[in-house]
Amino acid sequence: MTDLMQTYNRLLDHYGPRVWWPAKTPFEVVIGAILTQNTNWNNVEKAITNLRRAEALSADVILNLSIEELEQLIRPSGFFRQKAERLQLFCRHLHQSHQGSLGKLLEQPLNRAREELLQLKGIGPETADSILLYAGKRPSFVVDAYTGRLFSRLGILTGTEKYDQIRELFMAHLDDSVQLYNEYHALIVIHCKDVCRKKPLCPDCPLGDICAYKQQNS
Ligand code: SF4
Repeated sequence: MTDLMQTYNRLLDHYGPRVWWPAKTPFEVVIGAILTQNTNWNNVEKAITNLRRAEALSADVILNLSIEELEQLIRPSGFFRQKAERLQLFCRHLHQSHQGSLGKLLEQPLNRAREELLQLKGIGPETADSILLYAGKRPSFVVDAYTGRLFSRLGILTGTEKYDQIRELFMAHLDDSVQLYNEYHALIVIHCKDVCRKKPLCPDCPLGDICAYKQQNS
């Protein structure tokens, strides 16, 4: 589907490369992917800063913290009880199934690694694909609410598709490239935050001439 590459190229020309994900290590990506659920990134950064100061950015240390200590460290990210439990469950799984190695989990065949992640409590498809793509450098396209909004407005989606249908559409029509998937997701996020908002700023949009929503509403 050339529309997907055309949209990508327009966004890349307009915004330039975004160079995601903002993390120093693959394990930090996992922490961020779990903590970012239902909150904004500023709050996640505060929680990660707390973990860094406590030298708790590793599976071993997170498992050795009491649940109360972990809750306090990640409190700024919201839903901290639920997220502390999820972080420790993830770290326990790494230890029990992969000798504590995130690399071993993520270097399995893509579908097997994804299924394994999806079986862990609190890891849904968006979190699993973020971990695979940004921590594991595996070609698994990340879909989020912004993706649904933008591509429905463009007329490429109907708005009724489920997560896996959208992911499969992108993966079927784009080259199997980690860099492309990485950049594309980041560009969708910046475009939907800055321009294709809930109330879209269509006059400023680099996609205006290929957008069904704009054509219907102008
Ligand atoms: S023209 Fe408007 S609705 Fe279409 S992608 Fe741009 S901002 Fe969104």
